Amino acid sequence: MIIQADMHTHTLASTHAFSTVTENARYAQEIGLKAIAMTDHTDIMPDSAHIWHFRNAKRVLPREIYGVTVIRGAEVNIADYSGALDLIDSDLDWLEWTVISYHSHYFRNFTPADAKTVTKGYIKALNNPRVDMIGHPTAIKFPVDWEKLVPAAKEAGVLLELNESSIRTGKSTPESVRGMLETCKKYSCEITVDTDAHFWSQIGETSLCEKALKENGFPTELIANADWERIREKIQKKHPDSQI
Ligand SMILES: [Zn+2]
Ligand SMILES: [Zn+2]
Repeated sequence: MIIQADMHTHTLASTHAFSTVTENARYAQEIGLKAIAMTDHTDIMPDSAHIWHFRNAKRVLPREIYGVTVIRGAEVNIADYSGALDLIDSDLDWLEWTVISYHSHYFRNFTPADAKTVTKGYIKALNNPRVDMIGHPTAIKFPVDWEKLVPAAKEAGVLLELNESSIRTGKSTPESVRGMLETCKKYSCEITVDTDAHFWSQIGETSLCEKALKENGFPTELIANADWERIREKIQKKHPDSQI
């Protein structure tokens, strides 16, 4: 296993996922992960968790479950191509880990935009200092100008994600993955490797990502969550009151 922390996992608080945070943490402990980020969907996703879910996670969840650090995050929607997020800043302030993603589900009559438009939205959104990571930016429904996005993400200290589920379901292609990895390599921009698990047994399972990393000669030094202490430091820096 190349990662020590899976930074993108869902619980049944998003109703198209099927495991509890306890089940996820228990399995993470079994396979030797040190941390998991709980990143359920927010507001405009049709089956998202209510905002109380995210606030209360911080109030009631233990710091560790089965010895695994559980990071109270969210997968926040980039609501439109202007880069607006579907949580306001005072709600984002509750989170210890903010993933931002485009999904086509909430676009009324979704029509694809060109890479210039999509990238502009990403860059506007990632410049919110609360943002930690872009979720599955290789998804081809949202084409990206990597030469623009990668340096902007690096500058803002935002990680780009290689997402196992997106590769497995064909939402990302070998070409889109190569585009991201090659450009990240060129600019020494860090990424995360995550599962986007929707069931406990998917946690930590990143074999398709590993294959892609190998094929593209991607250096392990640029995988932020290959080392829990390294990603932990990043969380502490952006979210100083998280006490992780
Ligand atoms: Zn997503
Ligand atoms: Zn997700």
